[in-house]
Amino acid sequence: MRLRYSKVINLLERKGLDAILVSDAFNMRYFSGFTGGTGYLLITKRSKYLFTDSRYTIAAQAQAPDYIVVEVDASRDYCKEINAVIATEKLETIGFEAKRVTYSEYASLKEKLTIKGLVALGGELATLRRIKTKEEIDRMRQAEHIGDIAFEEVLHHIRPGVTEIEIAAKLEYIMKLNGAEKLSFETIVAAGKNSSKPHAEPGEYRIEKGDFVTMDFGCVYKGYCSDMTRTVVVGAANKKQKEIYSTVLKAQLSVLEMLKPGLKGKEYDKVARDIIYGAGYEGYFGHGLGHSVGLEIHEDPRFSMIEEDIVEAGMIMTVEPGIYIPDFGGVRIEDMVVITEDGYENLAHSTKELIEL
Ligand code: ZN
Ligand code: ZN
Repeated sequence: MRLRYSKVINLLERKGLDAILVSDAFNMRYFSGFTGGTGYLLITKRSKYLFTDSRYTIAAQAQAPDYIVVEVDASRDYCKEINAVIATEKLETIGFEAKRVTYSEYASLKEKLTIKGLVALGGELATLRRIKTKEEIDRMRQAEHIGDIAFEEVLHHIRPGVTEIEIAAKLEYIMKLNGAEKLSFETIVAAGKNSSKPHAEPGEYRIEKGDFVTMDFGCVYKGYCSDMTRTVVVGAANKKQKEIYSTVLKAQLSVLEMLKPGLKGKEYDKVARDIIYGAGYEGYFGHGLGHSVGLEIHEDPRFSMIEEDIVEAGMIMTVEPGIYIPDFGGVRIEDMVVITEDGYENLAHSTKELIEL
């Protein structure tokens, strides 16, 4: 936590601010340890304050021992308490998280805070979360491992007649039995033609012989997310299914082969995109190649067509190319990897050979 605090102090100095008002729940957790997600942190050059209400005070004191926990009264007038700190510390400029504050919340802060400068920040605090520590990586390794266990087990339940929702429920149940706190996002199970929708919601559709079944799922372990996707075929795959699958796999493996620090996110996206488009599937890969993961399921930087940010050691990224043919079906293969000094470590260990159930 001390290192994280010093990074915030560094940010204050760079931006010429006296303090930062943190309202994003993930940033609150990252910088204080408080998991309640309700209230604000106020980080100044002298002290750290956590403002929350009586529902969370006890948890906040236990989870954020190096913060001064201030309980707001039943009126929930945060500005009154923040103003007290502004007065005692003689603060003149405070940065706030413009991306996470609603317009009405901003209007209220602007009206009530007795501060000269209220300065809009972008994603600067989230940027400080990009490089993961060993402890964070260990948690995500475990989260992805839980995903591997769930995938292996769920294969025994995929057969004609079973619904997508049943498969999703199995995945979620197995992950929770194996240590998951919750899901990192709503599980996607898409079978048959539904698999041509990259973010299909699992429904009542019953799996038929010959279907692709795409499963995109993940869990949260000690606050950190996992993310993986596998696509299988129920019964024997036909020629077109094999061709689509092998093209997606080739794109994914080609990116992994060259993965190391130093290149821009868009350069990796291009490698996968060139392979998929070159095989005749231009127009059928409508999303980016991947994203960073951490406390949040989708973090920056991205592997996208426009990402200029450089991939660095210690980042955790997904590599998830796909091909989606309307009225036919689709394939996505996704691993979550840690970028290391000279390459990467794949946190997913489930096979990527085409599975015909
Ligand atoms: Zn995913
Ligand atoms: Zn993903």
